[in-house]
Amino acid sequence: MSPDTLVQVPSVATPSSPFTPADFDAYVMATYARFPLVLERGAGCRVWDTEGREYLDFVAGIATCTLGHAHPVMVEAVTRQIQTLHHVSNLYYIQEQGQLAQWLVQHSCADRAFFCNSGAEANESAIKLARKYAHTVLGIQHPVILTAHASFHGRTLATITATGQPKYQKNFDPLMPGFAYVPYNDIAALEATIAQLDSDERQVAAIMLEALQGEGGVCPGDQAYFQRIRQICDEKGILLILDEVQVGMGRSGRYWGYEQLGIEPDIFTSAKGLGGGIPIGALLCKSFCDVFQPGDHASTFGGNPFAAGVALSVCQLLEQENLLANVQARGEQLRAGLKAIAQSHSDQVVAVRGWGLINGMVLNPDVALTSGDVVKAAMAEGLLLVPAGPKVVRFVPPLIVSESEVDQALQALERAFAAV
Ligand SMILES: *Cc1c(COP(=O)(O)O)cnc(C)c1O
Repeated sequence: MSPDTLVQVPSVATPSSPFTPADFDAYVMATYARFPLVLERGAGCRVWDTEGREYLDFVAGIATCTLGHAHPVMVEAVTRQIQTLHHVSNLYYIQEQGQLAQWLVQHSCADRAFFCNSGAEANESAIKLARKYAHTVLGIQHPVILTAHASFHGRTLATITATGQPKYQKNFDPLMPGFAYVPYNDIAALEATIAQLDSDERQVAAIMLEALQGEGGVCPGDQAYFQRIRQICDEKGILLILDEVQVGMGRSGRYWGYEQLGIEPDIFTSAKGLGGGIPIGALLCKSFCDVFQPGDHASTFGGNPFAAGVALSVCQLLEQENLLANVQARGEQLRAGLKAIAQSHSDQVVAVRGWGLINGMVLNPDVALTSGDVVKAAMAEGLLLVPAGPKVVRFVPPLIVSESEVDQALQALERAFAAV
């Protein structure tokens, strides 16, 4: 493109006086309890605040910035797409969307993809697909989707209903009909609930679970549990839906969390890490349950050239740089270091658990120390962490994190424990 075809860009002034948390709260709804920290710049696994302080980022936008901050491949992809084509609607064929779908299908058990903008929207799509399958294929009149206690599936009305945690549902009733809950990793309870619902004529159409519960406390799924669920779904012809929004896209050390469990879902969802931090979500499924027809489901922004083109570059880089090997090695290094810290503070820490680069440090339920206390103390030592519930500290760095950065994070955490 020759420069004279480009519209002259007016220079946009950056705010001259810093926008303080108080200024912010005057304009933005208070839906989040924010830390008093204003981040203004990032590079790799580091971010800087408006005071010039540097932090090692083991939050990565909550398991989202797969390639860290300002990665050259993302800068290139974003620039390329915005200069060529960024949005056209799904009235037309979109090359980048097709290529991203192809990559995802070639690197998973799925046959087809549908694109949207977030994890909640991907899960909504999965719920709609499962209900249509129940009505049109299984002949179930009042389909029920089973989900787990302590799960997290998003903040829309259907996904807070799917989320088995009352704190997300309080004051938002009436909730969506058609959901029932079971304890996670408990096969006897699941079989009893299915039998109970079937005798009530409210038939189970699908079971929807996280391969590893992220928000619920970094709790990995049990292989035997998921393998038995796979058998039950096959026997009854019902659907197994996995929410891979947090654990998928390489974070577990495999592309998908279900690979850790030795099973394949019929339907799964992705979002967070999929676009490396640009908003995109995806519903993926096997062809036998792809019952959507034109007009059944849609999303204005879904899979636009911008989001799909950037996500495709993130996926390709994951593969080309063999980042899964880094995730596995750095994950082992991190867990070993966390276990050493847990041992020297065994009065405060009771367990370390996780897969690849999604790990949790479980605090002693009998002491007052909360995950928020540890996160604040780590922040003071230059390390960003995020709670997963009141008693679990979560570690979800970019997948490109280096050996020395993991060491530095462990040293900062050791100092934080000395301080609390
Ligand atoms: C974050 C998350 C979601 C919701 O994703 P949004 O993009 O915030 O809508 C759903 N499921 C899981 C497992 C998540 O971790």
